[in-house]
Amino acid sequence: HAKAAGAGTYRFFDSSLNASSARDVELLTRFKRAIRDDEFCLHYQPRVELQEFGLVGLEALVRWQHPEHGLIFPNDFITLAEENDLIVLLGRWVIAAACRQIADWRAAGLPLVPVAINVSPKQLKDSALLETVMETLARYQIEPGLLEIEITEGCFIEDFDTANRVLEQLRANGLRIALDDYGTGFSGLKNLKKLPIYAIKIDRSFVRDIRNDNSDAVIVASTISLAHNLGLQVVAEGVESKEQLVHLKTAGCDQVQGFYFKRPVPASEIVEILRRGRFTPS
Ligand code: C2E
Ligand code: MG
Ligand code: MG
Ligand code: MG
Repeated sequence: HAKAAGAGTYRFFDSSLNASSARDVELLTRFKRAIRDDEFCLHYQPRVELQEFGLVGLEALVRWQHPEHGLIFPNDFITLAEENDLIVLLGRWVIAAACRQIADWRAAGLPLVPVAINVSPKQLKDSALLETVMETLARYQIEPGLLEIEITEGCFIEDFDTANRVLEQLRANGLRIALDDYGTGFSGLKNLKKLPIYAIKIDRSFVRDIRNDNSDAVIVASTISLAHNLGLQVVAEGVESKEQLVHLKTAGCDQVQGFYFKRPVPASEIVEILRRGRFTPS
């Protein structure tokens, strides 16, 4: 059922896969084994503020280091994991792995910045999420302010109040929350007004052509002004060029993330970045 696609990407699961129970069982087994065997790993991408290009955070992004198929990216397994509730298992692994990494960097005497993890809608529905997060932070003796949660608007489609309540609890416990992929979902203004978020991350689809597509430029500019007027920080995703960077800085964007500064890299490559604490745009 696994098949190769072009450009070095490996499609691990056929997207047309029917959720037959035999497949589910196989996937469940495989996933659990992969978690147990430490086949997942986190890569980290810096988040940079636009005043002095200081490092202000890292985003943890999961990868599956498959023994036969090599590195598999989240778009090839997250959706299926969500459909099968495996995302809760994987999510627990991600929380622990991120905390363990922060503790390791601390033990190495490195200056720390907050690490953001992505939490999917199913995880927010897991009644044990708050407890899992707080227990893991305590186990590694990490201040809650060093862990950030990135959620998407998909979390609020079914039940806004429940999702909001969980976020309020995380916020009350000292975690910071950002709204990811902003502009791609149901960007109800209620989300910006009511949620206990401190930042929005503008989806990279609006950043890609920001220089040439006037509607993208307008959307980004208005989003920045709206967010600022509501007291929210603005992070732009997917910044790949100096031109995009300059445009965003001029538009008043606070922070960026993207290949222009750094691709997501293994933890070992983050050490030097933590030590320096800033970037110099070329
Ligand atoms: P996201 O949270 O919006 O993460 C940003 C994605 O954009 C990452 O893809 C990152 O590698 C990519 N990216 C960053 N800068 C650039 C750029 O300049 N250009 C381009 N073209 N892409 C850039 P990645 O790592 O493949 O992750 C894809 C998505 O998978 C994430 O989107 C997130 O929704 C999900 N994901 C990743 N890790 C986790 C996780 O631990 N748990 C959950 N639930 N979802 C995760
Ligand atoms: Mg994210
Ligand atoms: Mg995003
Ligand atoms: Mg995304």
